[in-house]
Amino acid sequence: MKRRDLLKYASMLPIGTGVAAGLIPTKAFAKAPAAKRNILKELGIRTFINAAGTYTAMTASLMHDEVVETIKQSAKQFAMLDEVQDKVGEKIAELCHAEAATVTAGCWSALVLGTAGVLTGMDMKKVAQLPNVTGMKAEVIVQKGHNIGYVHALTNTGAIIVEIETVQELEKAINEKTAMMWFLNTYAPMGKIQHEEWVAIAKKHKIPTMIDMAADVPPVSNLWKYNDLGFDLVCVSGGKAMCGPQSAGILMGRKDLIAAARLSAPPRGGNIGRGMKVNKEEIVGMYVALEKYINQDHDAEWKMWESKIDSIKTSVNSIEGVTTEISVPPIANHTPLLFINWDESKVKTSNKDLMLKLRNGSPSIEVMANGTGINITVFMLQEGEEKIVAKRVREELLLAKA
Ligand SMILES: *Cc1c(COP(=O)(O)O)cnc(C)c1O
Repeated sequence: MKRRDLLKYASMLPIGTGVAAGLIPTKAFAKAPAAKRNILKELGIRTFINAAGTYTAMTASLMHDEVVETIKQSAKQFAMLDEVQDKVGEKIAELCHAEAATVTAGCWSALVLGTAGVLTGMDMKKVAQLPNVTGMKAEVIVQKGHNIGYVHALTNTGAIIVEIETVQELEKAINEKTAMMWFLNTYAPMGKIQHEEWVAIAKKHKIPTMIDMAADVPPVSNLWKYNDLGFDLVCVSGGKAMCGPQSAGILMGRKDLIAAARLSAPPRGGNIGRGMKVNKEEIVGMYVALEKYINQDHDAEWKMWESKIDSIKTSVNSIEGVTTEISVPPIANHTPLLFINWDESKVKTSNKDLMLKLRNGSPSIEVMANGTGINITVFMLQEGEEKIVAKRVREELLLAKA
């Protein structure tokens, strides 16, 4: 096309198309450098101080500068997706005492792909056949106390959940169709069988085991504890306390099972995991986040959390009718937690109203409801934000006193 025809052609296109095709120079291209844009502000999206925790709906965690830098830098170079997974997988495996590892689209995706790998092994026909499990061992044994919503990740593959409660029931449930035994770490206290026994019984019957420990760092040692304990597959979230990309996670464990799991994952298609793609930026971002998390000073971090929690507690403690309590959840989200409760005849607001006032205040703050009071965590707070949280919560409780 000649330039004249090009312009004529461009003028016939719907608005925007010509711009996208690079045909019409517009003011948009002449604007200030992209880095100056604040896209969340521009779109009118509310941002807030996260005093609640690593909730998926709140976008869980903020990536460290090193992770953002890694994503930015790797975004400008091509690489083979499988090679990125190979090299990063080797490093992650080494860091976490596993034979092999792969980065997945979150812990949920690790659960799906790991289970798929157990069901199919290296048989490509079976990979293509899922979620139809005809001809495969497909029963996954789960303790009754662990049988909550997360098992949907397992049934996504076509696997069938077999629920048991006692060791006797477990021994009876194991048969030639048993594919795997699954353990939900955060619900360990709700089960009658603990980790060591679960693994020992599985090993006796040569059945692979998988553990979901999505939100269960800190402590950092959990990253290798369950590999050391003998679980064949370990699944963890990357975007919770580790502050990696929110849509990344890790599947690690036995080499043959990781290789089999990857058959159901991109870049391969025609499988149940094709939609669980992780881009190279997030794969390397996950690695850098993990490395940073492992190498940071966890004692110093814990002391900092305690001091922040203490300062918020102190700011509201003296208000008449308000009570506070600090605790640490034993397994998931194992960080200091401040529970603030109040006598509603003295402080006349419900916890739902207080949450709204904090949300609608400036800056906006998110906390969690708990019974009649609220929970506050500090592990997702950025530098200095504890002071703002302390001031705002105190302010609102005092206003409600009148
Ligand atoms: C968060 C969570 C998941 C899902 O993890 P994602 O990384 O969000 O995919 C699975 N299991 C448990 C117990 C979790 O807490």
